[in-house]
Amino acid sequence: MSEARVPGHSRQHHEATSPDAELVAFLLDRLDEERTAAEAATRTPDGDRIPGWYWSSAGEAVFLDGTATCVASGPWKQPAHRPWARHIARWDPRRALLTCSLLQQLIDQHRQPATDHCTGCGHTNAPMTEQRPARCSTLRDMARLFDVHPDYRSEWV
Ligand SMILES: [Zn+2]
Repeated sequence: MSEARVPGHSRQHHEATSPDAELVAFLLDRLDEERTAAEAATRTPDGDRIPGWYWSSAGEAVFLDGTATCVASGPWKQPAHRPWARHIARWDPRRALLTCSLLQQLIDQHRQPATDHCTGCGHTNAPMTEQRPARCSTLRDMARLFDVHPDYRSEWV
Protein backbone atom coordinates (compact mmCIF):
# COMPACT_ATOMS: atom_id res chain seq x y z
CA MET A 1 0.00 0.00 0.00
CA SER A 2 1.50 3.31 -0.94
CA GLU A 3 0.68 6.57 0.69
CA ALA A 4 0.64 10.09 -0.61
CA ARG A 5 2.12 12.83 1.48
CA VAL A 6 0.27 16.09 1.67
CA PRO A 7 2.57 19.12 1.66
CA GLY A 8 2.30 21.10 4.84
CA HIS A 9 0.67 18.29 6.77
CA SER A 10 2.56 17.33 9.88
CA ARG A 11 1.69 13.91 11.09
CA GLN A 12 1.28 13.40 14.79
CA HIS A 13 2.92 10.27 16.09
CA HIS A 14 1.21 8.77 19.07
CA GLU A 15 3.43 7.70 21.93
CA ALA A 16 3.25 4.22 23.38
CA THR A 17 4.05 3.31 26.96
CA SER A 18 2.69 -0.28 27.16
CA PRO A 19 1.93 -3.06 24.67
CA ASP A 20 -1.72 -2.04 24.53
CA ALA A 21 -0.71 1.59 24.22
CA GLU A 22 1.68 0.58 21.45
CA LEU A 23 -1.19 -1.06 19.58
CA VAL A 24 -3.40 1.99 20.10
CA ALA A 25 -0.62 4.29 18.92
CA PHE A 26 -0.17 2.11 15.82
CA LEU A 27 -3.90 2.34 15.08
CA LEU A 28 -4.07 6.10 15.66
CA ASP A 29 -1.10 6.64 13.34
CA ARG A 30 -2.79 4.55 10.63
CA LEU A 31 -6.04 6.50 11.00
CA ASP A 32 -4.09 9.75 10.65
CA GLU A 33 -2.63 8.43 7.40
CA GLU A 34 -6.01 7.29 6.13
CA ARG A 35 -7.61 10.66 6.93
CA THR A 36 -4.76 12.55 5.26
CA ALA A 37 -5.09 10.51 2.07
CA ALA A 38 -8.89 10.79 2.04
CA GLU A 39 -8.88 14.54 2.75
CA ALA A 40 -6.40 15.07 -0.09
CA ALA A 41 -8.65 13.09 -2.42
CA THR A 42 -11.61 15.38 -1.71
CA ARG A 43 -9.87 18.38 -3.30
CA THR A 44 -10.32 19.08 -6.97
CA PRO A 45 -7.56 20.79 -8.99
CA ASP A 46 -9.67 23.98 -8.68
CA GLY A 47 -9.73 23.72 -4.89
CA ASP A 48 -13.33 22.62 -4.55
CA ARG A 49 -14.03 20.00 -1.96
CA ILE A 50 -16.10 17.01 -3.14
CA PRO A 51 -15.78 13.87 -1.01
CA GLY A 52 -18.31 11.73 -2.87
CA TRP A 53 -17.67 9.80 -6.06
CA TYR A 54 -20.00 7.88 -8.33
CA TRP A 55 -19.72 5.38 -11.13
CA SER A 56 -21.58 6.01 -14.37
CA SER A 57 -22.24 3.59 -17.18
CA ALA A 58 -22.54 6.61 -19.46
CA GLY A 59 -18.82 7.26 -19.19
CA GLU A 60 -17.79 3.85 -17.85
CA ALA A 61 -15.72 5.71 -15.27
CA VAL A 62 -15.80 7.17 -11.75
CA PHE A 63 -16.73 10.83 -11.35
CA LEU A 64 -16.94 13.44 -8.61
CA ASP A 65 -20.46 13.74 -7.18
CA GLY A 66 -22.59 16.25 -9.06
CA THR A 67 -20.04 16.72 -11.82
CA ALA A 68 -18.71 15.15 -14.99
CA THR A 69 -15.16 15.36 -13.61
CA CYS A 70 -13.52 11.98 -14.04
CA VAL A 71 -11.71 10.51 -11.03
CA ALA A 72 -10.82 7.13 -12.50
CA SER A 73 -11.05 5.65 -15.95
CA GLY A 74 -9.34 2.95 -17.92
CA PRO A 75 -5.91 3.47 -19.47
CA TRP A 76 -5.69 6.36 -21.91
CA LYS A 77 -9.16 7.47 -20.86
CA GLN A 78 -10.71 4.28 -22.15
CA PRO A 79 -13.69 2.80 -20.28
CA ALA A 80 -12.78 1.52 -16.86
CA HIS A 81 -13.11 -2.14 -16.00
CA ARG A 82 -16.62 -1.98 -14.56
CA PRO A 83 -16.15 -4.02 -11.33
CA TRP A 84 -12.98 -2.11 -10.48
CA ALA A 85 -14.57 1.25 -11.17
CA ARG A 86 -17.63 0.42 -9.09
CA HIS A 87 -15.40 -0.65 -6.23
CA ILE A 88 -13.40 2.61 -6.41
CA ALA A 89 -16.63 4.60 -6.31
CA ARG A 90 -17.92 2.64 -3.30
CA TRP A 91 -14.73 3.40 -1.38
CA ASP A 92 -14.73 7.13 -2.02
CA PRO A 93 -13.20 9.66 0.40
CA ARG A 94 -16.56 10.21 2.13
CA ARG A 95 -16.71 6.52 3.06
CA ALA A 96 -13.04 6.45 4.02
CA LEU A 97 -13.52 9.40 6.38
CA LEU A 98 -16.65 7.87 7.88
CA THR A 99 -14.80 4.59 8.39
CA CYS A 100 -11.98 6.47 10.14
CA SER A 101 -14.52 8.17 12.39
CA LEU A 102 -16.13 4.85 13.33
CA LEU A 103 -12.77 3.20 13.95
CA GLN A 104 -11.75 6.16 16.11
CA GLN A 105 -14.89 5.64 18.22
CA LEU A 106 -14.03 1.96 18.63
CA ILE A 107 -10.46 2.78 19.65
CA ASP A 108 -11.73 5.30 22.20
CA GLN A 109 -14.11 2.69 23.63
CA HIS A 110 -11.33 0.11 23.95
CA ARG A 111 -8.45 2.22 25.19
CA GLN A 112 -7.10 0.97 28.47
CA PRO A 113 -5.67 3.91 30.32
CA ALA A 114 -3.69 2.69 33.30
CA THR A 115 -5.76 -0.46 33.82
CA ASP A 116 -5.21 -4.11 33.07
CA HIS A 117 -8.56 -4.72 31.47
CA CYS A 118 -10.60 -3.32 28.62
CA THR A 119 -13.84 -1.71 29.62
CA GLY A 120 -14.99 -1.75 25.98
CA CYS A 121 -15.14 -5.49 25.42
CA GLY A 122 -14.92 -6.78 28.94
CA HIS A 123 -11.56 -8.50 28.72
CA THR A 124 -10.34 -8.67 32.25
CA ASN A 125 -6.82 -9.55 33.13
CA ALA A 126 -6.23 -11.44 29.91
CA PRO A 127 -2.62 -12.45 30.18
CA MET A 128 -0.16 -10.63 28.05
CA THR A 129 2.41 -12.99 26.62
CA GLU A 130 5.37 -12.60 24.35
CA GLN A 131 3.23 -14.07 21.56
CA ARG A 132 0.23 -11.91 22.40
CA PRO A 133 1.47 -8.65 23.87
CA ALA A 134 -1.84 -6.77 23.77
CA ARG A 135 -5.01 -7.66 25.64
CA CYS A 136 -7.95 -6.19 23.78
CA SER A 137 -9.07 -8.51 20.97
CA THR A 138 -11.08 -5.73 19.33
CA LEU A 139 -7.99 -3.56 18.95
CA ARG A 140 -5.92 -6.53 17.81
CA ASP A 141 -8.53 -7.41 15.18
CA MET A 142 -8.71 -3.80 14.06
CA ALA A 143 -4.94 -3.75 13.51
CA ARG A 144 -5.37 -6.47 10.88
CA LEU A 145 -6.80 -3.78 8.60
CA PHE A 146 -3.26 -2.44 8.38
CA ASP A 147 -1.28 -5.69 8.36
CA VAL A 148 0.77 -4.63 5.34
CA HIS A 149 2.22 -1.65 7.22
CA PRO A 150 5.87 -2.19 8.24
CA ASP A 151 5.10 -1.32 11.89
CA TYR A 152 2.41 -4.00 12.12
CA ARG A 153 3.31 -6.79 14.53
CA SER A 154 2.04 -10.24 13.60
CA GLU A 155 1.86 -11.21 17.28
CA TRP A 156 -1.06 -8.79 17.71
CA VAL A 157 -3.34 -11.31 15.97
ZN1 LIG B 1 -11.51 -4.10 24.15
